[in-house]
Amino acid sequence: MRRILPSFFAFLLAVTTLLPASLKAQTAAQAVATVPANAPYKDASLSASKRVADLLSRMTLEEKATMLSGSDWMESAPISRLGIPSIKMADGPMGVRSWAGSSAITSLPGAQLKVLTTSFPSGVDMAATWDPELVQREGQAIAQEVKALGRDMILGPTVNINRVPLWGRNFEGYGEDPYLSARLGVAYIKGVQGEGVIPSVKHFDANNEEFERHRIDAYIDQRTLHEIYLPAFKAAVQEGHVWAVMSAYNKVNGAYCAENVPLLTDILKGEFGFKGFVISDWGSTYSTAPTVNAGMDLEMPGGPPMKVMIASPRSQLAGNSGGWLEADKVLAAVKAGQISQATLDDNVGRILRVIFVSGLFDHPHTATGIVDTPAQQAIARQGATEGIVLLKNEGSLLPLAAKKIHSIAVIGPNAAVARTGGGGSSLVRPKYAIAPLDGIRERAGSSINVTYALGAGMQGEDPAQDTPEARAKLLQEAVEAAVHADVAVVVVGRYAKLESESFDVKTMDLPAGQNELIEAVEKANPHTVVVLNTGDPVTMTQWLGQTSALLDMWYGGQEGGHALAAVLFGDANPSGKLPVSFPKKWEDSPAAANYPGENLKVNYAERIYVGYRYFDTKNVEPQFPFGYGLSYTTFKYSGLAVTPTKASGNQPVEVSLNVKNTGSRAGAEVVQLYVHDGHSKIDRPVHELKGFRRVVLNAGESKTVKFTLDRASLSYWSPETKGWVADPGTFEIQVGASSRDIRLHAPLTLVR
Ligand code: BGC
Repeated sequence: MRRILPSFFAFLLAVTTLLPASLKAQTAAQAVATVPANAPYKDASLSASKRVADLLSRMTLEEKATMLSGSDWMESAPISRLGIPSIKMADGPMGVRSWAGSSAITSLPGAQLKVLTTSFPSGVDMAATWDPELVQREGQAIAQEVKALGRDMILGPTVNINRVPLWGRNFEGYGEDPYLSARLGVAYIKGVQGEGVIPSVKHFDANNEEFERHRIDAYIDQRTLHEIYLPAFKAAVQEGHVWAVMSAYNKVNGAYCAENVPLLTDILKGEFGFKGFVISDWGSTYSTAPTVNAGMDLEMPGGPPMKVMIASPRSQLAGNSGGWLEADKVLAAVKAGQISQATLDDNVGRILRVIFVSGLFDHPHTATGIVDTPAQQAIARQGATEGIVLLKNEGSLLPLAAKKIHSIAVIGPNAAVARTGGGGSSLVRPKYAIAPLDGIRERAGSSINVTYALGAGMQGEDPAQDTPEARAKLLQEAVEAAVHADVAVVVVGRYAKLESESFDVKTMDLPAGQNELIEAVEKANPHTVVVLNTGDPVTMTQWLGQTSALLDMWYGGQEGGHALAAVLFGDANPSGKLPVSFPKKWEDSPAAANYPGENLKVNYAERIYVGYRYFDTKNVEPQFPFGYGLSYTTFKYSGLAVTPTKASGNQPVEVSLNVKNTGSRAGAEVVQLYVHDGHSKIDRPVHELKGFRRVVLNAGESKTVKFTLDRASLSYWSPETKGWVADPGTFEIQVGASSRDIRLHAPLTLVR
């Protein structure tokens, strides 16, 4: 603010001379009015709407116009005359990335201003926990760090759907299913808002590829939008009562998301009843009046950093644009009658309302600097542990028999370096990070000899490791290590420069040399555990047949190495389940034929058949199905009951079953409920997830698991009625351990 004040007042003077007489009179009258100490908007006991109305009545037009764009890279514009604070933001969602200046600057290696906070597991990792209660605690912990650093808002959660396995930001989102994404998004939002911190659910809508992300136009039919790409946002609004929604960079059906009337006005603010404010993604606006009138409330970034950004050749090449909602432009549009004062009041009123309801106005956050506390670390560790998915375990190689093992060779480009997250605005710099090798060494203790070999350099990281000679030598060292160990653990995957915001992953294959490394190590030692450290599915056909044990640890945040060791040694029983189907190869993935698009248009021609909706309906066998994940114990499902078996109208339906841990160790099972509709008037996926529960069971223990279904659980979005419809008839309620492992089913008849 200090930096912009003088120019701000000079600017006010300038725009005032441009205003028509009526507006000028209003401006002058308001500008001189003093604010009484007991002005109603300052009274915390009044409702937010009363406070907003009072405050709006005291604001000049210029002040209102000023609030529509940021004052800096991560700050909204304050109005100090009225005590309106700046909303100070920080990037997320997997922890606090930045709290001052440019996030890009503060997080760069060697940056002057370092922001070191807890690095939580990536979104897809948290999704693999299927544990909304834990995600809510994660949101709460992140919000506490936001406040501890004197910030007010976290730019997350990301709830965009994993449409293609190559999207560079798949690791940020919650996988391929709208229901799962909705549940976890709501949980995160509740955790954040419960602390009085403003979340920003993003990116609205259909930011499903990074290829030409500023220009690509996603053509999506209305049914597909409503069934796949909108539910997580709808739930964020209607169940999470989210305070802010970030629009996406891309276009949807011909219009930029920042000025998309059907998305922002009709659906978000109309149909969903969103009461918070819409914030633009950084540099995603292309007009003044059309953007404001479509429902954009706050353009980001603003001030000098915005000017620097849009002038940079890199941003221009990428297609960034901004500065359209600067006060002078907004005022000129108001003067020209292109933006009504009612619209301006609505925009500003929404921002003010959030400032009041979040508590920011009455209780500004004071930075304590206390972050990365043991409690926060424990949540990060629990997430990383619960998110690990056991994909294969032949001959029960896992858990490792610590008492019988004398040596472990830990191998791979992701073994000794903690690859905590993918790249871009979500990458958190932690105070410490546990690499797989660190975690295994710590757990192995002195009785097990842990050796290490790189095996293959990480593609693009060190040119010296990239020559044919260097590669051969590294591979040979890995084989040597594997041959001489009781067990080999090969940790492979990508890292933040191969899997990142701003570009898509080039191939589903593992980076150069890694398939060959796995093959060679497996040949050298049959007791090999392969560990995947990525955010996306990868092709495994080259070696999977020979693999005894396979784990997916995703990007596990700063505690990933501890979590991996706990699962390897059986201190934790793996309970993660895939939140995304793993295709055998890229060509099998549902949208392969419709990606990345042509002439800057991408046609979502696969429609609603995303993920398992495609694999299970079209009978294409995935490598690993949605919802899949093994355990060190076994679970038996029995006694499925649907009550009533005939329902009508909005009558709730109770579904219950018994789940028993039939093995010899404690564990958790994620019970999934799918609805099959074989009688609808319209084509539907063979089944859709409509419920899940993570149940923790001791050996031998049983629990009753209950779900409640409503009419919405049976419905599809009808293009004919433009609404949700459930066709009367008999549905099948399916309960299982993955989308392809349905253990029990029972009929449910919808009478009318
Ligand atoms: C990303 C957003 C992020 C914003 C601010 C954009 O490039 O798409 O997710 O919050 O930058 O850093």
